[in-house]
Amino acid sequence: MMSVTTSDAEPSGSAAEAYVRFEHVTKRFPANGRRGAPLTALRDVSLEIARGEVFGVIGHSGAGKSTLVRLINGLETPSEGRVHVGPHELTALSERERRGVRRDIGMIFQQFNLFQSRTVAGNVAYPLKVAGVERAERDRRVARLLDFVGLLDRAHDHPEQLSGGQKQRVGIARALATEPSLLLADEATSALDPETTGDVLALLRRVNRELGVTIVIITHELDVIRAIADRVVVLDDGELVESGSVYEVFAHPRTEAAARFVGTTLRDRPSAATLARLRRTHSGRLVTVRVRDRSGLQSALAGTFLRHEVAAEIVFGGISELQDRPVGSLTFELTGPPGAVDASLAALRADGVELVEED
Ligand code: ADP
Repeated sequence: MMSVTTSDAEPSGSAAEAYVRFEHVTKRFPANGRRGAPLTALRDVSLEIARGEVFGVIGHSGAGKSTLVRLINGLETPSEGRVHVGPHELTALSERERRGVRRDIGMIFQQFNLFQSRTVAGNVAYPLKVAGVERAERDRRVARLLDFVGLLDRAHDHPEQLSGGQKQRVGIARALATEPSLLLADEATSALDPETTGDVLALLRRVNRELGVTIVIITHELDVIRAIADRVVVLDDGELVESGSVYEVFAHPRTEAAARFVGTTLRDRPSAATLARLRRTHSGRLVTVRVRDRSGLQSALAGTFLRHEVAAEIVFGGISELQDRPVGSLTFELTGPPGAVDASLAALRADGVELVEED
């Protein structure tokens, strides 16, 4: 079994043990050419990844995500600050000791990185061979892993005979072969279509829940984070601009960078073009209400509009879920007697409802 089991888990409510810890990490790369300034890929990043969680890192291309991964597995060293993995502070280790730490870390990649000349079983067996695991034990583990990822019947096929999703499942089986405690997934679903992405994410969830493997998932896709992560950090141009539970960060983004991710995925306020279209067919006041996990929001809205004799029609919006909690927005067209709409909006604001008048 994997070295981390649920029996290691902290009792819920107390802070879980940090498994990966960044302390004020800055990573600079030398200038490209003589006159360029050094490039800062990560700037003063501090974070903690707990044992047993699925930790998301989201950011646009060039934000520093892959650099962060390479600092965790010791392929890069920080220019300033410290990276701890388990009990080790990586900069204090020799290259040989770093390799030891790396053996406890599995990796999966966007392009799968499988050996085309080896069979599916051969790919999964490879890291075991390198680790010197003897033949019979190797065969047993490969069979168990292929069974776990649902590819036992494809053991003797070559990668080119597989779909993208199947290739990534082989990648996952191979990454798990040495029974790592940590799995780093760098854009692991970015080359897959949405349905296959869902299957691979479901498999990663099982890797986390059933095998107790801590997962760090690097992506530019919010949907991936929504589907699988417990907590998330947002990287923007080398800086860690937000961190928290997936719900906190995306239901209440505090920075523009996080809000940009949310705006493209979660239903938010109508765009200028949508508003213009709505105005052509709706003459009443347009008001957008933010929907979050506040109990009784719908009845507060209905009751208030009724009391003030305001007619409310939903003209735009929607509600989806983040970590099983509602998030979204609803745009209403409000019509009623003079002063009634204003009075109803004042009452809702006093009641703590978040709303904006569209102008
Ligand atoms: P992401 O994974 O979010 O796309 P990266 O971590 O790959 O971002 O890159 C962050 C920045 O650091 C980019 O500007 C990239 O060009 C630069 N960078 C990454 N690795 C190197 C390197 N080995 N040498 C020089 N610049 C690098």
